[in-house]
Amino acid sequence: MTLFDHHIHSDRSDGTVSLADRAKSVSVRPHGVSDHYPWREKIRDDDDVRRYLDDAARLGLRVGLELDLGVAPALRPSTRDALHYLIGAIHQVEIAPGEWIRYDDAGAFLKGRVTSFNDAQRYVDAELQRRIRERTLEVVRAGIESDRIDILGHATMGPLAALRDPETAFPAEWQERLIQMCVGADVAIEVNEAYGVPHREFLDLAQRLGARFSVGSDTHFELRPLDKTMAMIRGASLDESRFLAGRRVREPV
Ligand SMILES: [Zn+2]
Ligand SMILES: [Zn+2]
Repeated sequence: MTLFDHHIHSDRSDGTVSLADRAKSVSVRPHGVSDHYPWREKIRDDDDVRRYLDDAARLGLRVGLELDLGVAPALRPSTRDALHYLIGAIHQVEIAPGEWIRYDDAGAFLKGRVTSFNDAQRYVDAELQRRIRERTLEVVRAGIESDRIDILGHATMGPLAALRDPETAFPAEWQERLIQMCVGADVAIEVNEAYGVPHREFLDLAQRLGARFSVGSDTHFELRPLDKTMAMIRGASLDESRFLAGRRVREPV
């Protein structure tokens, strides 16, 4: 069974490959495109999303978006419905008014682009960890209820995962709250190739709680084999029939 890869970037946000070239690689394995929203001057608002959707769909691509949870302007319901699926993902959280924690450095470390996470010491602080976790739950809840995402992208990516002890940084009861939110709304949990998240115990728990899953290579470059993803799926014995296949399964409102 070839799993559908939902999470792929193009040069319409920060990827290097054109939509036309992405349309060619669907013969290598089935995949869609899901560029960042918002993304600087390229995908700023609902009208830009419609243009992106039209351009990609005309090439025969399945079209999603990677909506920046907690940051993205609301989409019109008709735009959300016209997309084939909607990924929501966190790249920064506001833990107090005006106080943002950005995930870029942790992300680069998790991707293996840098060999150390220089800020690690700061994130050992229990109170800071708690605020990040609580804010994550709030932002995901809003993404599920208001933005109506179909997939939670790279659920645990961030500074806490970069500490490399996820079962301490993400207590089981917190994992359960996050997973139950997704299960309750039929939102799939992404197995993310680029960051290698979520970790094994999280995936085990998600499967026990009846979650759906989604493959996301999260590539910004050429399509590469899903080695890490397949190891994660096999490691947690995830049921491949629970993976999304390029279309949403959430009931309309
Ligand atoms: Zn992302
Ligand atoms: Zn991405």
